[in-house]
Amino acid sequence: MGEGFVPAYRKLGLEALRRRAGEAYRQLKHCRLCGRRCGVNRILGETGVCRAGKEVLISGYGPHFGEEAPLVGQHGSGTIFFTYCNLKCVFCQNYDISWEGAGNAVTVRDLARIMLVLQKRGCHNVNFVSPTHYVPQILAAVYLAARDGLNLPLVYNTGGYDALETLKLLDGIIDIYMPDVKYMDAAVAERLSGVADYPAVAKAALTEMQRQVGDLVTDRRGIACRGLLVRHLVLPGGLAGTAELVDFLATEISPDCFLNVMGQYYPAYRARRYPPLDRRPTREELHAAIQLARERGLRVYT
Ligand code: SF4
Repeated sequence: MGEGFVPAYRKLGLEALRRRAGEAYRQLKHCRLCGRRCGVNRILGETGVCRAGKEVLISGYGPHFGEEAPLVGQHGSGTIFFTYCNLKCVFCQNYDISWEGAGNAVTVRDLARIMLVLQKRGCHNVNFVSPTHYVPQILAAVYLAARDGLNLPLVYNTGGYDALETLKLLDGIIDIYMPDVKYMDAAVAERLSGVADYPAVAKAALTEMQRQVGDLVTDRRGIACRGLLVRHLVLPGGLAGTAELVDFLATEISPDCFLNVMGQYYPAYRARRYPPLDRRPTREELHAAIQLARERGLRVYT
């Protein structure tokens, strides 16, 4: 990172970080880390909707060049892909990982080592992909990695269905929040991900994320240091609720909110059974989504 940059967790200090990890671990006894609030005891081996247990599974890690330019820079974003997901989207493009559990078990120490390996390889950040259901283990690993010299900003790359209590645990630790906001309509969220309260949970999460980190800030090379970066995958037939989302972002979050309007939807997994998800968005639908965001004055990235 640029000279003078200090990641949030280093400012917080090791002792506070250790305490926060301990606090988070206690959540595993009655898991309410995400909006599903299953209440299962994951320490005793019970599992909830996401199927994640006490042990962490990851499907891979390494420098990634497919993320947004402010995360990728010259040397890539240091992604760690977590297995399982608290959302169960019928169109998931990584369903082997999110639904079927593809991946390998790692210890918290392994996870800390991986972060340091990514730093050594020159990555500009550590990017936790689908982290919600492993927040306690991630915090414990961040503590160990920080103790051993980690100095990169942390990116929380989530589906946006995070409990507020979970986000409070991350306050002062995460530098960059990157929620992928999927829907703004309860009936659509229920049909496609089984979570009718997704819009309400995601709006509360966005508000808390913005409170913690503010608008996206980059260094003089254009590399992200801190802030909120919202993603939004345009779905066919207006299912993603783009008009309502951009309105919410512009009025309730920030007129300078950074929004990546993503056009790479294709029918994956069970999508063909859920028309109009059985087709890609048309060029006109994509164009209209980008226009809506631009008209609201957001910092649009495509
Ligand atoms: S993280 Fe998993 S077990 Fe915990 S509340 Fe969410 S879906 Fe349920």
